[in-house]
Amino acid sequence: MARFEIEIVPALSDNYIYIAHDPSTGATAIVDPAEAQPVLDALSRRGWTPTHILNTHHHGDHIDGNAELKGRFGIPIIGPRADAGRIPNLDVLVAEGDSCTVGSQTAQVFETPGHTSGHISFWFPDSDALFCGDTLFALGCGRMFEGTPAGFWNSLLKLRALPDSAQVYCGHEYTQSNARFAVTVEPDNAELAERAKQIDALRAEKRRTVPSALGEEKRTNPFLRADVPEVQAAVGMPGADPAAVFGEIRKRKDNF
Ligand SMILES: [Zn+2]
Repeated sequence: MARFEIEIVPALSDNYIYIAHDPSTGATAIVDPAEAQPVLDALSRRGWTPTHILNTHHHGDHIDGNAELKGRFGIPIIGPRADAGRIPNLDVLVAEGDSCTVGSQTAQVFETPGHTSGHISFWFPDSDALFCGDTLFALGCGRMFEGTPAGFWNSLLKLRALPDSAQVYCGHEYTQSNARFAVTVEPDNAELAERAKQIDALRAEKRRTVPSALGEEKRTNPFLRADVPEVQAAVGMPGADPAAVFGEIRKRKDNF
């Protein structure tokens, strides 16, 4: 079965733009273009012609390349229905339960509010590819700008329900600082400690740490583990509502 080839394009200081190319049809989606030029460079290097732009949320570092790319290639922008008022020129509005097709690949759309109220994530099961913007990061999650702990936790539960093999294509290279925080929440998690070491080694060579496998996030990312007894105990909230535990972990990270 065909799968996306995915080009990872670093942009701005620590953003990632993704270009997902379906070799069986040539369809090519640009996910969250922070800026146009690095995307244009990558497209010409790969010899790909874009057919879609996908946006996860309205922040400028995810959409500021939209206009130039749409203007140049005349391609539709697909984004959150809830952000229709704040992402200019959206062509296709999607919401929870909708699908989104790029060539032979079809994404399931999840509403994943918390970082922003309109945030969505795209899950392409045949490519094991999860484009989750600033909802879930490697060893972290987005800042809670427009959400509530209960709403954000519910969003993360939707993503956590996906298979361990899902590759987490998140919006930023924040993994090393996330790891430094994560080990303070779960100092006794041996897999986390090992992962933190590997991340330090990668970053020492300026290599990227993205994508990660969702399975390792489930075992090591404290924000996906607010209902795990060890994590609840570690933050002094044994038996508490997982959403409240998540809120506490999020607050500690904000102040870390
Ligand atoms: Zn954002």
